[in-house]
Order: sequence, then structure tokens, then C-alpha cells
Amino acid sequence: MVNQDVYDALLAQYRSHYGKEPEVVAYAPGRIEVLGNHTDYNEGFVFSAAINYGTFFAASKAPGSTCRLVAGDLRREVQFETGAVTASTTDTWQNYVKGTFAGLIEGRGVTTGFDGMFLGNIPLGSGLSSSAALEMCTGLALGKLYGIEVDPVTMAKIGQHAEHAYAGCKCGLLDQISSLAGKQGMLVKTDFRSVVYENVPMGPDACFLMCNTHAKHALVDGAYDKLRAACEEAAAFFAKRLRHPVTHLRDVSMAEWALYKEGLDPAVAACAAHPIGEDERVLAGAKLLEQGDLAGFGQLMFDSHESSRVLFRNSCEELDTVVEAAKNVPGVLGARLSGGGFGGSVVVLVHPRDAETASAALANAYAARYGKPCAVSVITPSEGAHLV
Ligand code: ADP
Ligand code: MG
Repeated sequence: MVNQDVYDALLAQYRSHYGKEPEVVAYAPGRIEVLGNHTDYNEGFVFSAAINYGTFFAASKAPGSTCRLVAGDLRREVQFETGAVTASTTDTWQNYVKGTFAGLIEGRGVTTGFDGMFLGNIPLGSGLSSSAALEMCTGLALGKLYGIEVDPVTMAKIGQHAEHAYAGCKCGLLDQISSLAGKQGMLVKTDFRSVVYENVPMGPDACFLMCNTHAKHALVDGAYDKLRAACEEAAAFFAKRLRHPVTHLRDVSMAEWALYKEGLDPAVAACAAHPIGEDERVLAGAKLLEQGDLAGFGQLMFDSHESSRVLFRNSCEELDTVVEAAKNVPGVLGARLSGGGFGGSVVVLVHPRDAETASAALANAYAARYGKPCAVSVITPSEGAHLV
């Protein structure tokens, strides 16, 4: 089992805290975004992967209606009533669990509480989506405990609603879908129009490095909204010019963009080219993986970053530094920013045999410029969420 040590530690702490065995335990991993940047809200395609770091949730039924919840590594307990599950401003980690529990039991007349505890090893807030992992292990464990069965997309939407309504984060569905749908050695390719996903084999000769720069540029929120608005404006523009229906940039090809962009504000046109190009790169990447062409796939990752840097302008100096350094590190096949941008992490495709030396080289290159290394984790595409 992945992360057996975390599971053992959780069971030991559960027994000593509650004085009983848990009735159910579930596991859910974090995720990386591999290709397809800012495509989800444009109803396009994304390659992601579940990772080899995750969170376990252990639970049993409580004697009454009170729910008790412990964050294992914080050694903190909170309590709330089954009939009054509301967001909290203190110990905000509980909101991910509360929001998921509330979504799961809605309209089902549940009155019994639970004794729950979770423990994980995903670095928090570093772009690996510890929050979605927490929601998905909560959802699976409590679903089993209460005998509530929901399909994966509904489960993902319950987690997304927990983020929106309880944690105050307007995320898409990518994180939850990736955590649920991951398979060992495989990527997850999701179509965000139909929310249909499939697993695509990567082969044994590939793994990823996640390089966290810890950079976070002040304009993040405003800039994100502006980029989204630019995508919507461009979609509306192309809807008037193309003969086929256009509701989102997903419906526009790069060829159509080039032919019909005249009259669109040049800055908006440049923005639009990024998600359109990303969709085409994801589809091209799927074909390359089928042919076992990892180097070709890696080149698409470099192209993706260049598109972020020049067209969408959601990169920053720190991310560019890592990607530029990666181009000269032996064994590196590709590198790009992963997630929203304006800081955060770079995902690097590398042969497993080169992972260690490449990690050190990237950390050193970053330190040479900024005085301290970026944090590098070795990521292997791993099994998605499941009951233990
Ligand atoms: P990310 O999802 O990228 O890690 P977020 O800010 O969305 O970053 O979520 C991080 C938050 O999730 C943490 O601040 C904490 O509240 C909560 N969280 C997730 N996993 C755990 C855990 N194992 N222990 C405590 N809190 C956790
Ligand atoms: Mg998150």
C-alpha cells in the first residue's frame, strides 16, 4: 500500500484518542496538473495525475448526534452537531470535512454523528491539492460508514461545493476528479465539457518532479478573474464569426483563431490562444503517449509553458527560472508551470533514473538566483482514492 506508514500512524492515534477501532478507513491522493492550463473553465481538456502522497480518513459511528473530528498532525479536536454543519472561522481545516459531510448527507435524514480522524503527508498549500485529497477521503469514508453511494463525478462535485461554500475557494473540478480517477503509472485525461475522464498509460520510464518556488504574486485574484473574463469575451467574439456554435473557447481551433481573430482586441486574442493551444496540445499529447514518445510529450510541456509566459502571461520570473534551468538538466524531458500561475510550482517530466540528480540540479539552479532552493518532490502517477 502507498503511504503505509501514514496509515499505521493514523490507526495508532485513532485507537489512543477514541479508545476503539475505526469502522472504515479511506485514502485519497493529491494531484498534479500535467498539461492543459486554464482549460477547465473553457470546457476543454486536461492531463493530470494522482500522486504518491495522500490523506487517510478513519471513522466510526458516534453514540449520539455529535460529530468529533481530529486533525491528526495538528492533534486538534473539534465537535459539531449532525443537524448544524456550518463553516467555521477557526480551525479552518474542518471546513473541508464539514462541507463534504454536509453534501453527502443532504436530504437523507441522517441524525447519527461520527468519530473521525485524518492524517496525510501532502505538503499543504503547495499546489498538490491537499484540500481535494481531504475532501475525497472524507467522502469515501463517510459514504461507506453511512451506506450512501454516489458516483465519482457526484463525489467530485460534493468536494467542489465544500471548497466553494465552506472553504471559500472557487476551484474547478480538476483536483477532485484527479484524486478519484488516478491509476498507478497512468495519467488522467479529462474532458471538462462532458466531465468524462479516461486513464492514459505513461509507461514505467517516466516520473515527475514538482518544484515549489513558494512565490505568490500579489495580483493573483484580480488577474485570474481578468483572464477568465478575457476568455469569455473571446468566446463571444468567435461565436459571432464562426458558422458552428461556440459557447466556450473549446469550440475554437488554432486555425480558426488565426483566420478570424481580426477585430478582437489583441491582448484578448493573445489570451484566447493559450487555452485553445492547450486543448490541442493535450490531444496531441495523448497520441504521443500512445506511441510511447515521451520526449515529444515533454516538448509539449515546454510549449505549454512558453504559451503561458508569452500569450496568457500567467507565469513569473521564479517559474521561468525553473523552466529555463530544466532545459539544461540531463534527463529532463519537459517542464511547465502547473496550476493557476503567478507563482506556485513547476512540474518537470524526467526519467526515474535521473530524478535524484535532476532534483538537486534544479534546486541548486534556483538557489543560485534566489539565495534559497525551490522545494522539489519526486512524484509518480499513483492509485486514486479508495477504501482501505
Ligand atoms: P492545496 O489544496 O494546494 O494543498 P489549499 O489552500 O487549497 O492548498 O488547502 C490547504 C488546506 O487544507 C490547509 O490549510 C488545511 O486547512 C487543509 N488540509 C488539507 N489536508 C490537511 C491535513 N492533512 N491536516 C490538516 N489540514 C489539512
Ligand atoms: Mg486546494
